[in-house]
Amino acid sequence: MLTLSGVSASYGAVRALHDVGFTAPEGKVTAVLGANGAGKTTLLRTISGLVRADSGSVRFGDRELTRTSTERLPGLGLAHVPEGRGVITELTVEENLRLGGLGRDNRVRPERLDRVFSLFPMLEERRGATAHVLSGGERQMLVIGRALMASPALLLLDEPSLGLAPRVVAQIFDLLGGLVADDGLTVVLVEQNARSALSIAHRAVVLSLGRVVVDEPADVLARDDQLRHAYLGF
Ligand code: ATP
Repeated sequence: MLTLSGVSASYGAVRALHDVGFTAPEGKVTAVLGANGAGKTTLLRTISGLVRADSGSVRFGDRELTRTSTERLPGLGLAHVPEGRGVITELTVEENLRLGGLGRDNRVRPERLDRVFSLFPMLEERRGATAHVLSGGERQMLVIGRALMASPALLLLDEPSLGLAPRVVAQIFDLLGGLVADDGLTVVLVEQNARSALSIAHRAVVLSLGRVVVDEPADVLARDDQLRHAYLGF
């Protein structure tokens, strides 16, 4: 379980998050929604320590993440997939995955590679291809697969649907839903594509100008015309 309370964060004099609090339940998807500039990316960056919180608490299990150095977070089971699908284009698909699975002993557990290939058969089919030939959707699968190589307990995913065809988005979201159900992974999913995110989320948090304005079960928000129109534009 991930619990934020009273989290504020800034870029210089510009405050991007104001007193943010919510709980992302274990083994579920929590969707973080909101307009451009609402603070969604900053929220993920604050959870993973890339942006230092000015105040407040971010607890993951029994750990206070605001007092944990960023390098130690993978060891605690936290994986962050930023926006932008940053694969290493000169390396093969399998090499990219192996980089994600390197442990302290510099070894990759073969069963992790098998698990990722079973989730993304396309990555197995193209394991020897260099990553630069992959489409946007395939790169998105590769960055998620690379994060899963470390056997995370908490996956922070920033805008995985950005720029992808609806069919590919549906495929990726189906897979995320399955992952959570099968592996008990906790996911915080930042999305502009609220409709798709709500279809797999258990809870939904909406940010507006850096503040939480909605924190509800996802199906409640999906059915609430007033809230949807006010904050999600559909
Ligand atoms: P988007 O969907 O466009 O990525 P977002 O909801 O993820 O938006 P953030 O990127 O977290 O929003 O931005 C929140 C606020 O912080 C915005 O006002 C933005 O202009 C500001 N901001 C973001 N990154 C920086 C930065 N590196 N330096 C200064 N201000 C920033």
